[in-house]
Amino acid sequence: MDNKRHFEFVIAGQGLAGSILAWYLIRSNRKVLVVEDSSLPSATSVASGLMHPVTGRRIVKSWRADEFIPNAVKLYREIEKELNTRFFYDTPILEIYHDHGNRNDWMNRSVASGIGEFIGKDFHADELPQSLKAPLGALELKMTGWLNATTFKSEMKKWLIKQNAFHESTIDYHSLEKRNDVFTHDAITFYKLIDCRGYYSAQSKSWSYLPFNPAKGEEIVFTSDADLWKEFIYHNTFKIIPIENNEYRFGATYAWNDTSYEITSEAREKLINGLASLLDASFEVSGQRAGIRPSTKDRRPLMGEHPIEKNHFLFNGLGSKGVSAAPTLAKEMHDLLLNEKKINPEYSLERFTFPGY
Ligand SMILES: Cc1cc2nc3c(=O)[nH]c(=O)nc-3n(C[C@H](O)[C@H](O)[C@H](O)COP(=O)(O)OP(=O)(O)OC[C@H]3O[C@@H](n4cnc5c(N)ncnc54)[C@H](O)[C@@H]3O)c2cc1C
Repeated sequence: MDNKRHFEFVIAGQGLAGSILAWYLIRSNRKVLVVEDSSLPSATSVASGLMHPVTGRRIVKSWRADEFIPNAVKLYREIEKELNTRFFYDTPILEIYHDHGNRNDWMNRSVASGIGEFIGKDFHADELPQSLKAPLGALELKMTGWLNATTFKSEMKKWLIKQNAFHESTIDYHSLEKRNDVFTHDAITFYKLIDCRGYYSAQSKSWSYLPFNPAKGEEIVFTSDADLWKEFIYHNTFKIIPIENNEYRFGATYAWNDTSYEITSEAREKLINGLASLLDASFEVSGQRAGIRPSTKDRRPLMGEHPIEKNHFLFNGLGSKGVSAAPTLAKEMHDLLLNEKKINPEYSLERFTFPGY
């Protein structure tokens, strides 16, 4: 076996899942190769990148937010330091009240639902930027932030190349060979394959028995001279994320029965109307992007080894919370691969019955 072309682990896909898992494995001195087809659309490239500790109209704490968010902040800071770059911003969120009922809910729920640690100042309407339509005021949420996931992905790619751990290619599951426990792809040999291909994994025969529930998302980029504070993210149904100068991102939509990667005029209209309801200033849309969130029916990730395909693993199902969840979950995946530590049954593949081929 050519040592230079032999690896212990091959990770298919360099989105959030594949990049962070590779980071942990390389830090543990393991020989890893990430195989990525950069020409394919990826959720990570278009993600708004928000870490929000509260979910939905019912105002409940997001799944394991008090563990996921601090772990994520720590990891992104660590990677930034090592790569000497910036892609993570611990920006607070201004939660704009929809109506009086919503304002009361926030007041009551912040005590009752254990989200007190995330609650900051309650802003009156007249304290907020003039161009923000927030007649009932807004509530500051702390310990939040956003990842510039596009920059994260491209910086991680450069780092992986420096580690000799990146290979630009498409893993074709039909032509992948496995003989005597050794996989071969592009004359590269390896023992373990971890599928981190986001929504693409759902389309392969190996994982077609799993309940993926893809959710298409679209966002727009706009410019405006609005007097918005640049050190806050603004959220009610959608979110306004200041990027730089007078540029902002706004999104994202959800569509459950469209798995194309095309941008749509329906989403654009929805987003423009949403933005007009929040912003009392003119704006110009300068871009639109679409991606597919690798969501699941039970809203839990999909992690573990294939029930009959030995040494074939899946790290997937990060849904709409990949930015905060991936750092904690990739560490768990690392511990499964290196120490055979069992995956939490709540999101282990073992919760599903494999029907056979
Ligand atoms: C519009 C939008 C907004 C979002 N906003 C947020 C947000 O605010 N906060 C948040 O936490 N999450 C958000 N998400 C979700 C987040 O993007 C995902 O949870 C996360 O990026 C999933 O990462 P992944 O690595 O599993 O998949 P992906 O990022 O899709 O990565 C899969 C990779 O596999 C590669 N690939 C596929 N097939 C092959 C193959 N055969 N061979 C080689 N490579 C292959 C692709 O090129 C891709 O790079 C958003 C998603 C979208 C679409």
